[in-house]
Amino acid sequence: MIKFTDLALAESLLRAIEIEGYTTPTPIQADVIPAMLAGHDVLGIAQTGTGKTASFVLPLLQKIVEDGQKPGAKKCHTLIMAPTRELAAQIGENIHNYAKFLNVSVAVVVGGVKPKAQIKALASGVDIVVATPGRLLDHMNEGVVGLDQTRSVVLDEADQMLDLGFMPTIRKIISRLPKKRQTVMMSATMPPPIRKLAADFQSNPVEIAVAAVSKPIERIAQSVRHVPAANKRIVLTEILSQDKSGRAIVFTRTKRGADKVSRHLEGAGLTAAAIHGNKSQSQRERALASFRAGRTSILVATDIAARGIDVDDVSLVVNYELPNVPESYVHRIGRTARAGRSGNAISLCDVAEQGCLRDIEKLIGNRLESANDPLPANGAPFAAPDAGSAKFSRPKKTHNRQGPKRGNRKPKGADGNALKTKDRTAGSTEPLAGLNRMLGNTGSRKQNKPSQIGKR
Ligand code: AMP
Repeated sequence: MIKFTDLALAESLLRAIEIEGYTTPTPIQADVIPAMLAGHDVLGIAQTGTGKTASFVLPLLQKIVEDGQKPGAKKCHTLIMAPTRELAAQIGENIHNYAKFLNVSVAVVVGGVKPKAQIKALASGVDIVVATPGRLLDHMNEGVVGLDQTRSVVLDEADQMLDLGFMPTIRKIISRLPKKRQTVMMSATMPPPIRKLAADFQSNPVEIAVAAVSKPIERIAQSVRHVPAANKRIVLTEILSQDKSGRAIVFTRTKRGADKVSRHLEGAGLTAAAIHGNKSQSQRERALASFRAGRTSILVATDIAARGIDVDDVSLVVNYELPNVPESYVHRIGRTARAGRSGNAISLCDVAEQGCLRDIEKLIGNRLESANDPLPANGAPFAAPDAGSAKFSRPKKTHNRQGPKRGNRKPKGADGNALKTKDRTAGSTEPLAGLNRMLGNTGSRKQNKPSQIGKR
């Protein structure tokens, strides 16, 4: 097992790490730290909770130690961009912790506060700027800070930046950086615009993907229901009305979709709240508190908004729309079956989403059991929104040919009994190997290095 002392970090950093109480590097740290120290651009696929912040902060600090030079007035050598003020502040705190034995200056530059103190902090130049994109660009346009001496840039939670509409700002900022630089991007998921951003701004990056958190995926009973788009709401209402087992999270692809579905569910007499990027922080917090307290039993969320949801007893996840990015499917269903409980994940799939379904099945290395026949290409109407009467048909072909016959397995957990879906994936572990791999249950992770993603 790799140790921090194997990572060619300065003594002063190792001491700070020890004080933090870290004994061994996390998987992302074990891969990202050497790659960054070797000067590579890095494209990291990792969520919060993996130790990703230290994975880029430690090598950045190491470089500052080795470099020894100070930036000029209104300049910074290192720039870290984060989507939210909270995350920027948190990264700033982490830097202070890891740099407690170093002489390193840090300025946190975020919106929502008066710029005066930030202008003052930037005036004589700082080693590291941690910024949200909007405020940083304002300062750049006002001549408060210039990036022509910046050698390293990190984009943290790039997919959330995308969701919050920061891409044009990010592109403007990065295009003003020197061509010779190190560019690191961290993202929990890798939707096409993030890939494109990496291709446009990174040079031959090392791509490192680690599992988010290890979860007992075997306990999640997964199934798919083939439903025409027009019938989804009614099928969803049916599923949720029959689910008496606890809290449910419904995922939609868009913010507007989340609002619409939430309104529909409320109209049907269920207690639901939507959370997404257009809701204010206090609205999100209120919705979450109500969900946690059990006053609201259904949360309708977009992928990004759902990230902060840490609620243990979610018994059901419904993918009202399938995600475009197959990895999101895994993150979504991982919202259930926490803390040793079992859970259900039902995906509603219309004809247009068949491709997404195939991608998900490829990723998880297993075919999702279907509670009804796949729709014909023309999307013939779904006979009845009654989940109980939906005919079960065994898929003709399965990707997975190993393991005992599924028909002999008993569904377990809070599964189809209440919902009357004929889910049979529960209790089966072998077909979930792909999923477990992604979630790190096998302890393995993917690393393609170096992967030619694109040139700057
Ligand atoms: P992050 O993914 O950066 O948000 O980090 C998640 C949490 O893991 C933070 O509380 C860190 O302090 C902690 N952490 C980071 N690296 C390690 C490590 N090597 N060992 C133990 N905890 C760590």
